Amino acid sequence: MTPTSKIPPYPKSHIVAASGVAALLSLALLVFPSREVEAKKTYLTPEMENGTDSVIQEKDDLRPDSLIGEEGDSPFARIETPETEQADAEQETKEKGPAEKLANNPTPAPVDPNLKKVRVGNGDTLSTLFAKVGLSTNRLHDILESNKDAKQFSKLKIGQELQFTFANDGELQAIRSQLSDLETISLTKSAKGFDFKRDLIKPEMRDSYARGVISGSLFLTAKRSGLSHDLTMDLANIFGYDIDFALDLREGDEFELIYEEKVVKGKPVGNGQILAARFTNRGKTYSAVRYIDKQGIASYYRADGTSMRKAFIRTPVDFARISSRFSMGRFHPVLNKIRAHKGVDYAAPRGTPIKATADGKIAFAGRRGGYGNAVVLQHGKTYSTLYGHMQGFAKGIQTGGTVKQGQIIGYVGTTGLSTGPHLHYEFQVNGVHVDPLGVKLPMADAIAGTDKKLFMQKSQPLMARMDQEKATMLAMNKR
Ligand SMILES: [Zn+2]
Repeated sequence: MTPTSKIPPYPKSHIVAASGVAALLSLALLVFPSREVEAKKTYLTPEMENGTDSVIQEKDDLRPDSLIGEEGDSPFARIETPETEQADAEQETKEKGPAEKLANNPTPAPVDPNLKKVRVGNGDTLSTLFAKVGLSTNRLHDILESNKDAKQFSKLKIGQELQFTFANDGELQAIRSQLSDLETISLTKSAKGFDFKRDLIKPEMRDSYARGVISGSLFLTAKRSGLSHDLTMDLANIFGYDIDFALDLREGDEFELIYEEKVVKGKPVGNGQILAARFTNRGKTYSAVRYIDKQGIASYYRADGTSMRKAFIRTPVDFARISSRFSMGRFHPVLNKIRAHKGVDYAAPRGTPIKATADGKIAFAGRRGGYGNAVVLQHGKTYSTLYGHMQGFAKGIQTGGTVKQGQIIGYVGTTGLSTGPHLHYEFQVNGVHVDPLGVKLPMADAIAGTDKKLFMQKSQPLMARMDQEKATMLAMNKR
């Protein structure tokens, strides 16, 4: 018997209201009382992998007190804004420019009369920048016409620098602009007009270690430890099944991780993946190790190879309000019917994405009576879930297909017997409806077979490395 055939007629008891939970949650992520910081970052040298005791203490991220002091009164003052591109770009040019070569020389670099630099400001266009170096709009037009790739110069970012090189007779020879640490574009005069070139630098990868003790928000602590916003998000996602970062985080909680860092000429320019991490929350330590299995799928497992994730996520809609709970109902004497609500309703704005709560097969996707647009997912032999009243289905969602946990399957709507936009969500175990909020959710599968052996060969050294790094760091702090 298929799970679809067991769907009962749809009860109509659905009322909807808006909610501000999302806003509260994101605030909670950012606001925590702050006192002091213990956060450091070191880079692992290749020798360390061979067991040598050399740690390069490259960065001590204790910030000056003035920075922390500013966070004082308003909780909003603690919300971190990324450094402006302006500031980044200024730093970049400072480091890249000719001034760097003369870094130890207090006299300024000699000015090359044939080189003119302009920085993109608010409201600038290529023509205003051309005007600043004495080139006409006609000249700009000619250049853009001469090479179809030249248009890439018109995608300007505030803070970006353009370098114009002129010949002694004042004729434009080249335009160059560094778009990032890894990418530079240029137009160079040729016989036919201008040749476009894109130079890409392949960064080196190194494994870096970082550690932080929570004081203030996760993001603030992570930033002090030298972690980027994206890396912090990755860390929070990895431990998302273990720790509710909005509610569970405490002062003194601790994290450490080994991650890939992209480096160009010794300067960090970005991050790759988190390779391993540990998070101690309220005295309990959770571990995570990244592993790419034989199918090429990357996932995180506990250091012992067991799964980090539950087979199901609890809620199929983010930041929704529960508007009606599960109830087996009771006999209604007037209607002569049992009125039950065999699911949970999540009120959310029309169009809110609905996620598959587990990996599974799409047993049904289509229109079904009172459920309106509905999807039924079969998760192995034991479990199935149903999602009703959808506005529409996500691309590729059709009967017979498969979905991954967290994949968007459709959008909140009010199709079928419904009085307002909400998701009706049902959970069945062996064909019997259970309360999705009450059911004990199974863990996802552990790593198995030959993968297990390969995994342990990766996991053990990573854990040992974190132990060693942490010990070194603590010893240094004591000294
Ligand atoms: Zn419902």
